[in-house]
Amino acid sequence: MQKIENLFEQLTSPKKVVITMHQKPDGDAMGSTLGLYHFLLQFGHKVTVISPTNWASFIGWMPGVDKVLDYERQTDAGNELIKNADWIFCLDFNTLSRTKRMEEALENALNERILIDHHQEPQVDKFAYGISNTAKSSTCEMVYDFIIDSGNANKISTEVAQCLYAGVMTDTGSFRFPGTTASVHRMVAHLKDLGLVHAPIHEALFDNGSEARLRFIGNVLLNRMEVFYEYNTALISIPQQDLIKFDVKTGDTEGLVNYPLSIVGIKLAAIIIDRGEERKCSFRSKGEFDVNTFARTYFNGGGHFNAAGGATNDTLEKAVDDFKTAMMNHKKELSTYTF
Ligand code: 5GP
Ligand code: MN
Repeated sequence: MQKIENLFEQLTSPKKVVITMHQKPDGDAMGSTLGLYHFLLQFGHKVTVISPTNWASFIGWMPGVDKVLDYERQTDAGNELIKNADWIFCLDFNTLSRTKRMEEALENALNERILIDHHQEPQVDKFAYGISNTAKSSTCEMVYDFIIDSGNANKISTEVAQCLYAGVMTDTGSFRFPGTTASVHRMVAHLKDLGLVHAPIHEALFDNGSEARLRFIGNVLLNRMEVFYEYNTALISIPQQDLIKFDVKTGDTEGLVNYPLSIVGIKLAAIIIDRGEERKCSFRSKGEFDVNTFARTYFNGGGHFNAAGGATNDTLEKAVDDFKTAMMNHKKELSTYTF
């Protein structure tokens, strides 16, 4: 994988560009791809953003989202674009399998794949150019660096600023996670200097849910959460019938895994959701407990040191049992309360 800087001088010659992200994109995945989209359009490139799957409604306000192609629904059009693209930017994921059914098309693409990502252990051999930096708060921060380092600060339009702000804010947990560096705050200060209005973005992301979603969360916290104080751990497990009963939509479970961390002493929080086709897991930790390795070891997943995910084809009951066994395997680390 060549350094991403080697692309800078090619930016001014118009190309066919595809930008993609991980399945079920979050604020950072959609924010970084659309931020880059609005930036590249200004050079006269022909740019299409493709999401491997649909996305949550709380992302629906982002400028340009109405132009994003949903690969599951527009597979033929997506394949055609991928086949003909000169550049395929892959943002906010480390392995091609994170694009689900799009993996094959990406794998077989003859043209250059370019990585911009902050997850651990990326498949660097799959990319012609790229940058991987796990110290970065978000892929949005990396797209911002790409714009600045390529000498194009003057191309940070309102749309670019809104998209990048949304991703850096959500991936830092509203600027509270340890990865929220001084550079993050400097970036936000710069966007503010350029005229970014941030409050409506928080409202669009966080104050846009349905009543059913709030009642669903109430039910989860009351009936679906177990706390294991001797392990400083809490687990939420959600059967598929709850998703149906409360009419849960894509994105409605986003952030739920963080709730148990508000209990004093809890340093590992997990959620396992029966999505029908698979049981999807998320893990969050505080301090020294490495959930990236935990997710990789027990749930075929990965992510970051303090935030990771995975999935299993086992039943929900089996997944819950496996989680408890895994937790017990780590009793020593988990039972010492040091953060
Ligand atoms: P979330 O729990 O919010 O879905 O994801 C937390 C972090 O772990 C994100 O950075 C996400 O990209 C990563 N992640 C989530 N699920 C998986 C997975 O199944 N495999 C891998 N490798 N990473 C995942
Ligand atoms: Mn991210």
